[in-house]
Amino acid sequence: MSAVPAESIEALEAYAASVAGCTRCRLAQGRTQVVFGAGSPRADLMFVGEAPGFHEDKQGIPFVGQAGKLLDGLLAGVGLRREDVYIANVLKCRPPGNRDPQADEIEACEPHLFRQIELIEPKVIATLGNFATKLLSGRPLGITRVHGQEQALTIAGRSVLLYPLYHPAAALYTPAMLKVLEADFARLPGLLAGEGTVPVAAPEPEPEPEVAVPAAAEQLGLF
Ligand code: URA
Repeated sequence: MSAVPAESIEALEAYAASVAGCTRCRLAQGRTQVVFGAGSPRADLMFVGEAPGFHEDKQGIPFVGQAGKLLDGLLAGVGLRREDVYIANVLKCRPPGNRDPQADEIEACEPHLFRQIELIEPKVIATLGNFATKLLSGRPLGITRVHGQEQALTIAGRSVLLYPLYHPAAALYTPAMLKVLEADFARLPGLLAGEGTVPVAAPEPEPEPEVAVPAAAEQLGLF
C-alpha cells in the first residue's frame, strides 16, 4: 500500500462522480453506466484492461464477467485479492457488441485513465492486452512481443513499472494461454518488492503467437 494522502482518495471519488456523466465520445449513448474502476485507491498495483463488457456495463464494476473470474483466479494464485489492487480500463464505457475500442474513443477517454493513475500513484501498472499496453507504453509493439517484460516509464508524471500481460480473455479462447499468464503473474510479487530488472525491449518485428490462436481471439485484438 502506498502512502496516498486522504485528499487524493477524496479527489478520486470526486473525479469518479464527475466522470459518471461523461459525454466525451459516442459510447455515452449506448452505455448503462460509466465503469470508472474498482479496488483500493492506495494500491501499489493497478491493472488496466480494455473496456467494459456486457456484465461490467450492467454492474458498473470492471472485470466481473468470465474474464474477470479468470483474473480473480490469477490474482489468488499470487496471494492477492481484488481489494488489494485497483482495476480500471482504457475505455470507461462499453463499446457496442464488445467491438474493439476505436482510436477517437481512446483519445477521448484517456484523460480519465491518466487522472486515475495520478491520484492512485501505483508502483506497478499491469496492462491487460494490446490496447492498454500500446496506450500506456506509447509504443506500437503488440502484447505477443512484450508480455512479461517490465518497462520503467514515466506515466502521468510519475515513475512507474509498466508490466504488460495478455488479456485474461485470451485464456478463454486459448486454454494454453493460462500457463503463460500464470508465469507472468508469478513475477508480480517480485516486481512490487522492487525486484524488476527493467530490460529495454528493442523494437523487432512481431513473431507469430507462441500458441495456436483461434481466429475469433485474433479478431478481438487479444494477440
Ligand atoms: N474486459 C476488459 O478489458 N475489461 C473489463 O472490465 C471486462 C472485460
